[in-house]
Amino acid sequence: MNYSIALVPGDGIGPEVTAKAVDVLALTGHKFGHFFNFVELEAGGRAIDSTGEPLPASSMEAAKRCDALLLGAVGGPKWENLPGHLRPERALLGLRAGLGVFANLRPAALLPQLKDACPLKDEVLAASHPEGKPTFDLLIVRELTGGIYFGERGRDGDGKSDDSSAFDTERYSRAEIERVLRVAYGAAAKRRSKLCLVDKANVLESSRFWREIASEIAGEYKNIETSYMYVDNCSMQLIHAPGQFDVIVTSNIFGDILSDEASVLSGSIGMLASASIGGKAAGRKYPPGIYEPIHGSAPDIAGKDLANPLAAILSAAMMLRYSFSLEQEASAIEAAVNSALDSGLRTKDIAGRTGYSAERIVGTNAMAAAVMAALKAG
Ligand code: NAD
Repeated sequence: MNYSIALVPGDGIGPEVTAKAVDVLALTGHKFGHFFNFVELEAGGRAIDSTGEPLPASSMEAAKRCDALLLGAVGGPKWENLPGHLRPERALLGLRAGLGVFANLRPAALLPQLKDACPLKDEVLAASHPEGKPTFDLLIVRELTGGIYFGERGRDGDGKSDDSSAFDTERYSRAEIERVLRVAYGAAAKRRSKLCLVDKANVLESSRFWREIASEIAGEYKNIETSYMYVDNCSMQLIHAPGQFDVIVTSNIFGDILSDEASVLSGSIGMLASASIGGKAAGRKYPPGIYEPIHGSAPDIAGKDLANPLAAILSAAMMLRYSFSLEQEASAIEAAVNSALDSGLRTKDIAGRTGYSAERIVGTNAMAAAVMAALKAG
């Protein structure tokens, strides 16, 4: 089969890690008899430099014509002082809204090879695990195109007087809440059948609306155990008892924050992949999907062969699974990542807290080469 993939390498380490994901996809295609055609697009800081805007209309149009989108990361100090509507991150919001993807799936699990890189003690992990194992495996489903990041915002007053103010608005429609809840219930049905809605319903009216709708539709998913948790408690529970969670579903801002917290438990932000899905398939061969590591452009390590490419490679695996239903191919990539870690190689971010032998700490290129070798051999 032929698949067309929009490729947005972006800024900083984005091009370094997406190049490795592209190699892995090409090899996977070769192995399984598919052809992935990559259409490289400009967005983010790079696009600002060449066109003056973070998301040129031509990039958006081309992205819509492709079957799925693979993104690195955008942004960096060079563009930090631009006004909000011209900042690189606008490209992300534009792509998400333009493709209509509203559910961001962020799996976070502790691979046995990375136990040393997890800051939690074994006994803390085991205490909340259903089978008493020192590990966890959860999925955060974050609403992506609504809430406070998209709500009405502004300022009143001159900014100097005491009564000057600024505001951002959290507003969710019933349709926005219901559709992301349904994606989360669908994901829970394929996992361990537990769903926890995380909100701030003790204070926020919008959160109470989320709970109301969740309790209505929970009845349709009788095999799924639904629970509710306040976000402040959840942030504590994640580091106290992560094994209790299966699927967490939450709003845009809470999901943004909690998934970064969860990434630390997995060893490094350089390990976490994400899929943004849920858009309409109308007029397309496949429903739209954006696949990207959850990390940013990491300007501090860009161009130094230090970036962990595994989150980008695992994002490519998610693309095969969620956009193209190529389960066997996705599993082959995940197995190759596992083998590379089994071989003992580590990028610096996942080398753990205790002295990992220096000769086994490798850069982006060598880590990706180990994945490629394992994929070839597998
Ligand atoms: P960041 O994720 O880029 O970096 C945070 C820390 O994690 C840094 O120390 C970095 O070196 C490290 N890190 C990140 N990815 C890594 C990897 N693959 N391997 C090893 N270490 C890794 O977050 P930040 O520093 O807050 O943001 C930097 C820039 O990225 C900013 O301009 C920000 O706006 C942007 N950003 C973009 C996205 C995106 O494109 N989706 C997401 C977050 C931040």
